[in-house]
Amino acid sequence: MNSVAIIGAGVTGLTAAFYLKRAGVPVTVFEAGPRAGGVIQSLRRDGFLAEFGPNTLLETSPKIAWLIRDAGLESRKLATDPAAEARYVARYRQPIEMPGSPAGFFATRLFTVRAKLAVLREPFVKPRRDGVEESIAEFVVRRFNQEFLDHAVDALVAGIYAGDPHKLSLPHAFPKLKALEDNYGSMIKGQIFGARDRKKSGEVAKDRAPKFSFDEGLQVLPDTLAAQLGGSLKLNSPVAKLTQSDNGWRVVTENGELEFTAVIYCGTAYRLAKLEIEAGRAAWPRRPLDIFSEISYPPVASVVLGFRREDVAHPCQGFGMLIPKIEGFKILGTIFSSALFPNRAPAGHLTLTSYIGGARYPELALLPPEQLVEATLADLRVLLGVRGKPVFTQTVIYPRAIPQYNVGYGKYRQRLNDLEAAAPGLFFAGHYRDGVSLGDSIVSGVNIAERVAKIFQRLMPAADTATK
Ligand SMILES: Cc1cc2nc3c(=O)[nH]c(=O)nc-3n(C[C@H](O)[C@H](O)[C@H](O)COP(=O)(O)OP(=O)(O)OC[C@H]3O[C@@H](n4cnc5c(N)ncnc54)[C@H](O)[C@@H]3O)c2cc1C
Repeated sequence: MNSVAIIGAGVTGLTAAFYLKRAGVPVTVFEAGPRAGGVIQSLRRDGFLAEFGPNTLLETSPKIAWLIRDAGLESRKLATDPAAEARYVARYRQPIEMPGSPAGFFATRLFTVRAKLAVLREPFVKPRRDGVEESIAEFVVRRFNQEFLDHAVDALVAGIYAGDPHKLSLPHAFPKLKALEDNYGSMIKGQIFGARDRKKSGEVAKDRAPKFSFDEGLQVLPDTLAAQLGGSLKLNSPVAKLTQSDNGWRVVTENGELEFTAVIYCGTAYRLAKLEIEAGRAAWPRRPLDIFSEISYPPVASVVLGFRREDVAHPCQGFGMLIPKIEGFKILGTIFSSALFPNRAPAGHLTLTSYIGGARYPELALLPPEQLVEATLADLRVLLGVRGKPVFTQTVIYPRAIPQYNVGYGKYRQRLNDLEAAAPGLFFAGHYRDGVSLGDSIVSGVNIAERVAKIFQRLMPAADTATK
């Protein structure tokens, strides 16, 4: 009987397990930690709902909607408040609303006339076709200008990757931007003319995708998927070694060994580097997983603070604010969590979720909790007019938060392809391969389940739906 071992009970592994099980394939999920969900972590306390990892799920692909429907979670879904669309970027040491229309762009104080002229010039900048892999910073300066990088893109990059724009690879970290230049010769032209192509493919641009969470936070999703697995989810079971056997793979944990037809690795890149693999094939390279230890995962601290409404001068009606490095604050940005969803704070209060650290200031993320709160408060006093003390505080440190798809990331993806080709029955999926957002991880989980199920020649429910 074909069976699959899944390593890692983050959202990728749980999604893959869910769809394989629905296709009738027996699965066992091994999770190193004591809980399911990976970086997703929601906490309800004192009337506040704190979200430490991802806050919202962007519905950029129909596969995300399938999972929510198939897991029976549609009634627990909470869409973000349509009135909370405004996004702010700090400039002149205050949050300024990002323009939402061409007219707004030309009127905004966020950019000088010089940056606005750079945008008008962009459709006439020749596309680069020499195949050289650029950083996102090089790309933005080439197509727009330095101000656009320092005052906008640097902040957006901090919001997505907690990363350094001078290191992040354009084709690996921002493939859609690269495709706009490749296909339309310009970002602006691509934005205008690409809408039709996106509609055809069913993909939705990130800025237009519906955003949502669940009544009790994003943790509802992994909890629901984990509950459906029952005893097939093995917590506190780090996988230390994989050995290729005649019929597939032996999975070695502290509790013993089990044999499976196939294995899907849905963990992190830094733990992949520590995995021991014994493959019975001559073509297998020596220590093939070592290179994954080179992938940088800078630490990020999430600082969730609850305030009395009257203690915050800013209305905080919007998605949140992003802070470019040039503005000199410690926080990378703040999500206005209680403006997004109705039940994140008790009546008369608001919840603000801020992030510290990342590639910008990795050492700050590791400060003790009281210093993280103090540093966040100092910035929020200036930026949002916060007064007095928070009535709710909770911090969580992710010592290794988000993988940086830096220039040269292609060699890691190539190694994963090579390993899959050299070791039949071994597969890789998740945030270190298929994109770092929560939505990317779900799509990665659906796709890998589909691939493996096809190999087992079974028709998956999700694949079936896709063809209707
Ligand atoms: C602070 C933070 C904020 C974020 N905000 C957003 C956001 O707002 N929107 C968004 O779309 N995305 C956001 N993301 C990204 C998104 O949450 C992740 O990309 C996604 O959840 C990754 O899921 P995953 O299953 O691939 O990996 P993970 O969640 O990392 O799960 C991997 C699991 O594998 C386990 N594991 C690893 N090795 C082994 C082993 N050898 N044996 C057994 N188990 C193992 C780990 O213990 C872990 O539980 C954020 C991430 C962080 C850290």
